[in-house]
Amino acid sequence: MTAVWSLVVLAITVAGCGRDDSSDEAAATNAIAPTNVTATNTIAPTSAAATNTAAPPTPTSTPRPTATREPTPVPAGPVEIALQVLYPQAPDDHFERVGTSERSLGASTMAEFLPRLIEGVNEVYLGSGINGQFVLVDHRQIDLNAKDPNWESKLPFLFMNGVNPTSNDQERAIWSAVSALRDEVAADIIVFWRRPGTEPSANGAAAIGAEAEEAFVQMTYFGMPVISTLAHELGHILGAYHEDGYIGTARFDVDGEPRDDRYRTVMTITSEMTSEGAPLPYIRRFSSPTGRVDGEVGCDVYLSLMSGGIRQVPLTCLFDDAPLGDAEHNAVGAINANVVRVSQFR
Ligand SMILES: [Zn+2]
Repeated sequence: MTAVWSLVVLAITVAGCGRDDSSDEAAATNAIAPTNVTATNTIAPTSAAATNTAAPPTPTSTPRPTATREPTPVPAGPVEIALQVLYPQAPDDHFERVGTSERSLGASTMAEFLPRLIEGVNEVYLGSGINGQFVLVDHRQIDLNAKDPNWESKLPFLFMNGVNPTSNDQERAIWSAVSALRDEVAADIIVFWRRPGTEPSANGAAAIGAEAEEAFVQMTYFGMPVISTLAHELGHILGAYHEDGYIGTARFDVDGEPRDDRYRTVMTITSEMTSEGAPLPYIRRFSSPTGRVDGEVGCDVYLSLMSGGIRQVPLTCLFDDAPLGDAEHNAVGAINANVVRVSQFR
């Protein structure tokens, strides 16, 4: 079947998972500004491919295709999906700003950080009942200056839109260099972790329910270390839609502070706000009809800053048996139908 392409994902991730990374404060403000949705729509597909041209008018309008793939049988144990992370600076230089932020996961080097980040993402998947986990098979600095001096700004767009026969030689050279790196380590999925302050402002996955040659994710600098955001983009590759996300209401604690409010699962994009006017907190779980959260769970919560901005920070939430989905909101089912297929991409 035809996958739903990049532009859709890129445009609609803004409200919940996109962020401008010029600064943390600006990031959070932009993450909830509706005007940003328009801004990300200016990313033009590199081809005239019909699947690339339809950007949805609103974040929640992406239709799930009526034709569905034959689900792959799910084996007994978790399936391993090989992940390769690429970034444009020397490892510790690239990590430096995250290392001094609340998103460092307690790490002081890139070598410490990435395994903790992937471990956090795996906890979201396994804790939700998904029969797959990510294995970091490689991470490295890439420099494609010899192929194209503008490679760094082009790569996120190539990841979102792919390369087609009308692309120029430089774009094809970038693409083949990245493909060779992927093949070298047999990575099922590549994640490009961008430099701070680069365009586009949103994170994105190339395709929802990606095929082997669409298994690319590009992350903004400060989007990458948010566990629920990386889990979200990988969820797109594995077939989950924003519509699969669930919004619940419960009394729960955020770092010990009681709330009586709404919460959302990882895939949910919504313009709804909490009673305090902040974007709904992300509980680090995917939706499913039988999924519940009872006890402590990691959550990524938007907090107001003294300066008036809003920042998303990793916290712990405490629930007393609250639902994580229903029959209509089942990201776990969508993802479990794809884990085996994606694990066999390389
Ligand atoms: Zn999304």
